[in-house]
Amino acid sequence: MMDLKAATKRQADIATWVLWDLSRCPVPSDVDARRVGPFIRRALKSLGYNGNLTITAIGILSQVPIDVLRALSSTGINLHHVPTMYNKSIMTSVYMWKSDNSPPANVMLISLQRIFGQFIADLSEKYYVLGSKVPYDRQLEPTVFARRAGCFLWESLLASLRAEAKKECSGTTGKTTFYCSGCCLGLLGFESFTKHILSKEHALEELDYYPGGVEAGNESRARKEDAAAILVRLQGFREARRLEEEEEEAKYKKERLEDPYYDEEYDYEAEAE
Ligand SMILES: [Zn+2]
Repeated sequence: MMDLKAATKRQADIATWVLWDLSRCPVPSDVDARRVGPFIRRALKSLGYNGNLTITAIGILSQVPIDVLRALSSTGINLHHVPTMYNKSIMTSVYMWKSDNSPPANVMLISLQRIFGQFIADLSEKYYVLGSKVPYDRQLEPTVFARRAGCFLWESLLASLRAEAKKECSGTTGKTTFYCSGCCLGLLGFESFTKHILSKEHALEELDYYPGGVEAGNESRARKEDAAAILVRLQGFREARRLEEEEEEAKYKKERLEDPYYDEEYDYEAEAE
């Protein structure tokens, strides 16, 4: 299940953190978002990961349908908004987590392989990175997610979830947290979180994270633009970044096709034993 190995003795009772890049690995329309969190919990439990489990969905959450966000938070998934899809956004949240969670702990990352290739090695020095030995998926049939076909662990998770008979969604366990890393702001409750990430103040703050965004923000302030106008500027920056990312992904895939050993990874899990 989910291309993961069963927990070793050392991993069985320590805490596990699942970082899910919701912008790059979104919930497909045929999957009920309320099932994802409980499914991950059950899957990890069945593999012997019995420690405390925290799941954090990260991404430009203001672009995710609000019903999906509500469904995720209702099943205890923490919501962490980031201002951009540059790699440093996701890394910042990993470093934040590291500073709060001393090793040992299990970490499961769901994102494009290309994105966290940079810090798996770093993380693996002290933490167990689940599934870090990537199955070679060159043979995978293109799916409707072709553009996101490189989502690490996500396709196998979805395949298992779809195959599983529908189960009742269990409620929240523990306290769900809501965080906007664009504004470095923790928010109390789902309603105030969604209100914040859709607000004008937040959008202005977010412009700063894009190349040329500070100038755009100053211009916007000078013109006393409303939230809709700021959002148009923001969408322009995001679209430019999205195109950049498509190019990066295409390049990555091409390199993998040309070199069958491109993806051969060091077995970090074994190393951490
Ligand atoms: Zn914010």
